[in-house]
Amino acid sequence: MTLRLYNTQTRTVEPLVPLHPPRVGVYGCGPTVYGAAHIGNFRTFLVFDLVHRYLEWRGFQVRFVMNLTDVDDKTIQAAQAAGQTIQEYTEPFVTAFHADAEALGMRPFHAYPRATAYVDEMVDLVRRLLEKGLAYTTEDGSVFFRIAAFSDYGKLSGKDLEAMQQGERVSADEYGKEDPRDFALWKGAKEGDREAGAVWGAPWGEGRPGWHLECSAMGLAEVGETLDLHLGGEDLIFPHHEDELAQSEGATGKPFVRCWLHVKHLRVDGAKMSKSLRNVFTVRELLDEGVEPAALRHQLLSAHYRSELNFTRAGLDASARAVRRVADFRARLREYPVERDGSPAGSLSHLAREARHDFQAAMDDDLNVPEALAALFVFVNRGNASLEGLKGAPIPESHRDLALETLTSLDEVLGFLELVDGEVGPDADLSAWVEERLAARQVAREARDFSEADRIRDELQERGVVLEDSPKGTRWKMRG
Ligand code: AMP
Ligand code: ZN
Repeated sequence: MTLRLYNTQTRTVEPLVPLHPPRVGVYGCGPTVYGAAHIGNFRTFLVFDLVHRYLEWRGFQVRFVMNLTDVDDKTIQAAQAAGQTIQEYTEPFVTAFHADAEALGMRPFHAYPRATAYVDEMVDLVRRLLEKGLAYTTEDGSVFFRIAAFSDYGKLSGKDLEAMQQGERVSADEYGKEDPRDFALWKGAKEGDREAGAVWGAPWGEGRPGWHLECSAMGLAEVGETLDLHLGGEDLIFPHHEDELAQSEGATGKPFVRCWLHVKHLRVDGAKMSKSLRNVFTVRELLDEGVEPAALRHQLLSAHYRSELNFTRAGLDASARAVRRVADFRARLREYPVERDGSPAGSLSHLAREARHDFQAAMDDDLNVPEALAALFVFVNRGNASLEGLKGAPIPESHRDLALETLTSLDEVLGFLELVDGEVGPDADLSAWVEERLAARQVAREARDFSEADRIRDELQERGVVLEDSPKGTRWKMRG
């Protein structure tokens, strides 16, 4: 069995054959650090994490690089509006990105190049393209890529060049282009760029790199001339990745990417995420609300990366239950009585081997997470049923150990149990406050002051505390 992935460029599912096995070089387009990343961005980044983890699980030696876009139109505009330099403005969002990534259990990548630290490499790349006649300068010190000189243009996205030519309009800062389709490699300095500290020197004039150029330069510098895998959200296929391909292959004359993988966009409550619909959630907002990181990770990874994923509160609740079910099974196994020659009935070890096999087959098949999760849940359900049938009779220690090792191994890829383990209970101050409020609610109830009791329940709910009244008293937990 080999790992097979859908390659956007060839539109087929192909075996992943790295240039220098067992090494795999991967580049993923990371966040533009001009605001807090939303859960849509993190759908994509969690797929990066899944790819990273699965390649390692399959025994590849992975080098995974994800850039941080800290200079582009958006960061400059935002920095200007805040009266700051891009450096000052973007720094807190870089920190916030790392905090969110860690909270969702993303394993650190090998490098996080920031565009502003690679301007020399970008200038060098432009120079090579100019020398080859694949680029030209304009009067204002900008440099454009000459699409007519690169016959492979369009091969990734499959865009029809003639149709593009008619549809394209020239934006105000792109005068002087030979062809409306040509795109900026370098943008001549403007006053606003200077204020934001976003101007660098180059032989053809001061200015700043174009966004597409940034990723080409960082990919070539950090991974190599040919990347085994290049990842990003589906919106990046055109023009971002098409342009990366043109620049990189134009300069090196070598294939830039062996396999392009694109993640479909996340929707929220059935709609496209947009500020006007007020359905753009950041990871931080949800976690502050008390959503369990493991549940959010599960929800964002639960669909196949090329399928629609619709984020809903009900889905999040279902994810919390799913994660809980796996964690409970593991807890049950840990506590289950074992002995050297216990009853092999129900053969937990057979179920474990089957789960591992089916999990790998699903993941090898273009990272089919829904099928991989199904393999895990068949294991959990049948494993539970088998233990129930034993009514407490001991099982062989080796079977129990294999079952536990299998859960741990699958979680090396899925990363849910890791997060459950890392969860710390509510802090002591919060617990004390909740206990005090519960006592006050009890006093109100005993005095038949139900409106006060309800008011206290609402107050608790606002802080994310959920109450469960039962004949034995009131239990509480943080909303999951
Ligand atoms: P940006 O910070 O805008 O550069 O985007 C970072 C990454 O998130 C890119 O790979 C985008 O394609 C991806 N992305 C943006 N919106 C969504 C979404 N709604 N669902 C999934 N990925 C997204
Ligand atoms: Zn990129």
